[in-house]
Amino acid sequence: MRLSPAVQSLKPSATIAAAAKAKELVAKGVKVYEFTLGEPDFITPAHIRDAAKKAMDAGHTHYTASGGILELKKAVCAAYQRDYGVEYQPNQVMISNGAKHSIHNVLAAMCGPGDEVIIPTPYWVSYSALVELTGATPVLVETSLESGFTLQPAQFEAAITPRTRLLMLNNPCNPTGSAYPISTLTGLAEVAVKRQIPVLSDEIYEKLIYEGAEFRCFATLVPGVKDLTIIVSGVSKAYAMTGWRIGWTLAPVDVTKAMDNLQSQETSNPCSVSQYAAVAALNGPQECVQEMLVEFRKRRNYVLGRLKEIPNIQFADPTGAFYAFFDVSSYFGKPLGANGKKVDNSSDFCTALLEDANVALVTGDAFGAPGYVRLSFATGLDVLEAGIDRIAKFLNP
Ligand SMILES: *Cc1c(COP(=O)(O)O)cnc(C)c1O
Repeated sequence: MRLSPAVQSLKPSATIAAAAKAKELVAKGVKVYEFTLGEPDFITPAHIRDAAKKAMDAGHTHYTASGGILELKKAVCAAYQRDYGVEYQPNQVMISNGAKHSIHNVLAAMCGPGDEVIIPTPYWVSYSALVELTGATPVLVETSLESGFTLQPAQFEAAITPRTRLLMLNNPCNPTGSAYPISTLTGLAEVAVKRQIPVLSDEIYEKLIYEGAEFRCFATLVPGVKDLTIIVSGVSKAYAMTGWRIGWTLAPVDVTKAMDNLQSQETSNPCSVSQYAAVAALNGPQECVQEMLVEFRKRRNYVLGRLKEIPNIQFADPTGAFYAFFDVSSYFGKPLGANGKKVDNSSDFCTALLEDANVALVTGDAFGAPGYVRLSFATGLDVLEAGIDRIAKFLNP
């Protein structure tokens, strides 16, 4: 059948595709060391699951308001007040089916053909695809390993044209694991205010911050920036709730209203039961977040220690999220693994690594970073240990 021009060039999400390839091997009975998926391996904390069961039994099984239940919007406002001292009203909050859906809503509400959206690379797989779906043009700005993969304020300013509609920022960043230094972030906020450029700040990893780094909500950085900021976040990463599909935006009222109209036509509302679970996540005890962070920290330190022992790979230490992102290009053209296979790009590298060593990583090509690969350490230490052993052996057989 004939497909629309918009979807003809659309590729499936590369991380989901990489995980699917690994699953194919698993189905054949192969033990695969799986480091592709970007989701916490923990089960959602018990008090959150209980809230969902209660909501079901209380009959909260119907359509809700399209932009989410008032209780959850209030809980989001209270959480931002508590955690970052920033004040939002419920009419500035939109609840959607995961933060990915929130990003789509923002782009669909704000961008169209002729518009440009600035995206620092490496970037999360879906950013450019979602921009292109609106007819707008992604303007990719390359960041460097030396800067810890952070967009510099001067780079941002230089990329602005009369068509610039939005900057998409991801702090901490998937795939690089970089949490922006406050000084850099403040510099970006100053440029946004000076040039009056709205910023979509994807802060889904806000709670996963490691030694030496600090998180600041973009809306709080400099006077005037809140009116230009659209915060995107959700419960998926902080509360191990990826399957529940709850994300949100905090934005000026006019943008929020536009997104609500859009969502009411597209999907009605996010899952009612999940919304009640998210209320419990935000209003309930926050120790679970810290407990998971302690585990992630152990894994991060372990992975970094191991990667540093492997010669000729380059990376910036992750300061947030749960990814190690490293450059393997010095191994291109050399015999790898037991079969002495040679590769000359990251995609072929990942395929060879999966086939020869049964280790699944995601190619950096998917994130606009050829030569790199992404390892998610959202998995147990034992799996990390065995998997990295295999990577090391594959690289230096
Ligand atoms: C996981 C992720 C999201 C979205 O998560 P949802 O499950 O849709 O809430 C958004 N941005 C980045 C960078 C992510 O890694």
